[in-house]
Amino acid sequence: MKVYSWIRGSLALLAVTAWTAGGASHDAGSIAHAASLSDAGRTYNAKEASLRAYGLAGKVIVIDAGHGGRDSGARGVDNIHEKEITLAVAKRLTSYLQEAGATVVTTRLTDTDLSTDEDRRNRRRHLGDLRGRLSVVRNQPIDAFISIHCNAAPAPDWHGAQVLYLKDNDHAKQLATIMQQTFQDTLLPTKRSIQSNETLYLLKRIEGPSVLAEIGFITNPNEASWLQRPAYQEKVALAMYVALHRYYDEVSSGKVPEEDPED
Ligand SMILES: [Zn+2]
Repeated sequence: MKVYSWIRGSLALLAVTAWTAGGASHDAGSIAHAASLSDAGRTYNAKEASLRAYGLAGKVIVIDAGHGGRDSGARGVDNIHEKEITLAVAKRLTSYLQEAGATVVTTRLTDTDLSTDEDRRNRRRHLGDLRGRLSVVRNQPIDAFISIHCNAAPAPDWHGAQVLYLKDNDHAKQLATIMQQTFQDTLLPTKRSIQSNETLYLLKRIEGPSVLAEIGFITNPNEASWLQRPAYQEKVALAMYVALHRYYDEVSSGKVPEEDPED
């Protein structure tokens, strides 16, 4: 499809421009930061402006940085905490999406979890945290949900990013497929493919394109080392951003998820 490939080309341009414009200051990762990008003279040309209207503009996207606060998530080599990497990537993805005109809702932008004092008193901190994240999602109608996590394994050679979705959620599967492809195209080598799941609390409760991205193994020395670097975190965020763009291109061009014969 000709139009489709033009959009893809422009997307790459838009993404790269946003990346360059952001530079090191992406660490701020907040609404204030998005404003500072415009202040710095970032302007859209006509082509990009129409792309904004066509793609992610106006979409409400929830970005969920896994773990936080007293829940560090998995521990990796050099005692890396999963919660720090997920937050860093979430902030970068937030900036990209805001640049594209999307409304971003984040479950957290600081080192905190979403459980309440009562949850902790009743020894259900983890469930309380998940419920807290779900209540953020349920505060408004949303268009997509992206939960960001890092993987961990007992063996150090396990590696590769992988996207999870809820079995029988076709929209989630479609987004997961596209995101796995952008991971394969741009991140460290991965032979992993998308994985359906039937038990993840949030994916079970959030309809539409909702996925959980395991962005790599922090127990693999090489992947862990890359995942700690701002430039690679930027790359991961960009891959997710491009995946969302491609997903909405497919949706607006009427492409529906393909039937999977073994489902
Ligand atoms: Zn996790």
